[in-house]
Amino acid sequence: MERIILHCDLNNFFASVECRDHPELKDRPIAVCGSVEDRHGIVLAKNEPAKRFGIKTAETVWQAKKKCPDLFIVPPHFNRYYYFSKFIKQIYLCYTNQVESFGIDECWLDVTGSTRLFGSGTDIAEEIRARTKAEAGLTVSVGVSFNKIFAKLGSDLKKPDAVTQISRENFKQKIWPLPVDAMLGVGKKTAKRLKELGIRTIGDLAAADLKYMVSIFGKSGQDMWRNANGLDLSEVSAADADPAPKSIGNSVTCVHDLFDMEEVWPVLLHLSEKISRRMRDAGVIASGIQLSVKDSRLHVTQHQVHFSAPTRLTMDLAAAAKEMFLKNYTWKSPVRALGISGFALVPESEMQQASFFQNILQNEKNERLESEMETLREKYGNASITRAALMTSMPLPGSQNHEK
Ligand SMILES: [Mg+2]
Repeated sequence: MERIILHCDLNNFFASVECRDHPELKDRPIAVCGSVEDRHGIVLAKNEPAKRFGIKTAETVWQAKKKCPDLFIVPPHFNRYYYFSKFIKQIYLCYTNQVESFGIDECWLDVTGSTRLFGSGTDIAEEIRARTKAEAGLTVSVGVSFNKIFAKLGSDLKKPDAVTQISRENFKQKIWPLPVDAMLGVGKKTAKRLKELGIRTIGDLAAADLKYMVSIFGKSGQDMWRNANGLDLSEVSAADADPAPKSIGNSVTCVHDLFDMEEVWPVLLHLSEKISRRMRDAGVIASGIQLSVKDSRLHVTQHQVHFSAPTRLTMDLAAAAKEMFLKNYTWKSPVRALGISGFALVPESEMQQASFFQNILQNEKNERLESEMETLREKYGNASITRAALMTSMPLPGSQNHEK
């Protein structure tokens, strides 16, 4: 049976959420930028008026301001973006349980089995488009096709707030004139190599000799060629295929009681490092953390904090735990045991776009980490100290993992 696949792409997602939350910004050129005070902060998203000035994602605030001096800079509100991302996914799930996220603002839906209930692929796409606008106040572009690659290309063709169908009848006319690097899986480097071979459009790629493509690009040459010819068979994975753990935590009972922050901090750092690594292994990122403290009278207190943007960076986790500890622990008794767990875990796959931006912002964070390590080195006087080495002098027996 011919598959019916939708690719839904929210338009100017971060900027649209900001304009939705602050309607007075709607007609002004705005850009959501990573670090607002810093001229070197980068543009994460822009609205339609800003696009007209040629503002581009990933350029610096400084470059953007040169193009448009009146550009209004907004800091990101990641928790709002995750909220809407999830909210809209609930709309998609009304039509099929085969919903696969690709970044925070894109999803594929396999609606092959849904047509008897909801009408044709384009009927469903139109309904999703209208509901997204009415219920979330955001717009989405939907591509409808018989495979994932063409559905994604379709959603790019008409924006914003539009539905584009790529059928067996029209794909040669609509898809083949597009440049090769518009297609998923063709990166800049590959596109450059293809161009050297005289292959500029997806149509050129489709018409190329398969054996020749394989001889140059190996397996990916075959994939590209198949994709260009509409032969992509990859499946849309089900939404509940592999449920992420709800929380990941570690706790430790110290071999002797701890009497001040100076003793507590390395333990928090150690626990943060452990759960950071476990989150990386599990492919998840935490929206918040919980700190548990058991004192020498075995009295336990727990505190939670939500991050403005999900993270699994050791220093982010440790700093948040430290802040909670300082704010809440009264030192009536010394500390016996400490535990940290990350909760409201978000799958990495839903974070691709945000993590791309966060990678850029991470340099900044790494610098902070370095200076923090510097302080510890000074304090503990070990020239070759690393976070792991630091722990050998700490009051730690084996620690415990827990997962919910
Ligand atoms: Mg988008």
